[in-house]
Amino acid sequence: MLPVPIIPAFMPPRRTLMGPGPSDVYPEVLAAQSRPTIGHLDPLFVGMMDELKSLIQYAFQTKNEMTLAVSAPGSAGMETCFVNLVEPGEKVIVCRNGVFGERMRQNVERVGGVAVVVDNEWGEPVCPDKVEAALVANPDAKFLAFVHAETSTGALSDAKTLCTLAQLHDCISIVDAVTSLGGVELLVDEWGIDAIYSGSQKCLSCVPGLSPVSFSPKAVAKIKTRTTPVQSWFLDQTLVMGYWGNDSGAKRSYHHTAPVNALYALHESLRLLANEGLENAWARHRKMHLLLRDGLTQLGLTFVVDEASRLPQLNAVYIPEGVDDATVRKHLLEEYNLEIGAGLGALAGKAWRIGLMGFGARRENVALCLRALQESLS
Ligand code: PLP
Repeated sequence: MLPVPIIPAFMPPRRTLMGPGPSDVYPEVLAAQSRPTIGHLDPLFVGMMDELKSLIQYAFQTKNEMTLAVSAPGSAGMETCFVNLVEPGEKVIVCRNGVFGERMRQNVERVGGVAVVVDNEWGEPVCPDKVEAALVANPDAKFLAFVHAETSTGALSDAKTLCTLAQLHDCISIVDAVTSLGGVELLVDEWGIDAIYSGSQKCLSCVPGLSPVSFSPKAVAKIKTRTTPVQSWFLDQTLVMGYWGNDSGAKRSYHHTAPVNALYALHESLRLLANEGLENAWARHRKMHLLLRDGLTQLGLTFVVDEASRLPQLNAVYIPEGVDDATVRKHLLEEYNLEIGAGLGALAGKAWRIGLMGFGARRENVALCLRALQESLS
């Protein structure tokens, strides 16, 4: 027998999370998560899932029937889209202007697709002209994939224009909305987005680990006419819908044991978003971003992304010359219980990423961050 490990209960400190996610979780959401666990096929739970579906539809602004929360984080939402839609040999135009566009490319290749990469510099939005040129040069492309809000740089791309281009060239659009959902305008049906995924831990201020996804009727038709089986059993939408409910009206059946309490949390966070109203939430993120921007500018910090395509919820600023990245972040964590994000990929060691997401997009957070940075940089 191994010795009995004597370990105290884990008691995390109360931090202020102003990195790229997870964001500060709403107290109501934490409370919802600790309600009694019931069975994942309990009629009351199934009723809650129906409400959850309509809340996700509201957040995405879609009437898509195939709308649900994948029982895993944003990366699984990404995989759900690629593994269900793309068949071996099919061509996908993938836009890459940061870490997550590159992750999309890797997904395409892993499912046996052919990725045609459209590159933009880190910090720039996806250029619609470049995308159009790639669509013209590749008339056999079946998909256009891009990241709406690139968390690695803080750049917002023009999803409406990109999806219009996809439609004009008869492509199915696959959109990463992990960081955009709830923080900036996103209109799935109006913009003609075909497949979209997000994450619970950013502007929804829910606990991490869930990924809302939605598929348009065009995307569903593509899934239903596949000639090869979906490589992943767990992420196969046709199987998952047996549990989330499909248009056949068939009784729901066991697929996997749903993360019951995490789904209570998502239900609560989306309920809070609906109560606030999407447009109010977008305006709040923008207002707090402007406050933060002014303060950071006064501290002499400069932004990685041009104003026109800057995300309010993810503020990437260059680390001033002579300042040690890790020392400052450690100081903020230890002295202020404040987390800001390090740079990722090409921006590692060069930039900080300051999140203003969901519950975190509020005056107290802006004030704390500015005060802490001012003291650390002086
Ligand atoms: N896509 C984007 C734009 C992200 O920011 C992230 C996470 O930060 C992901 C995908 C992956 O999400 P997760 O870390 O929840 O798997």
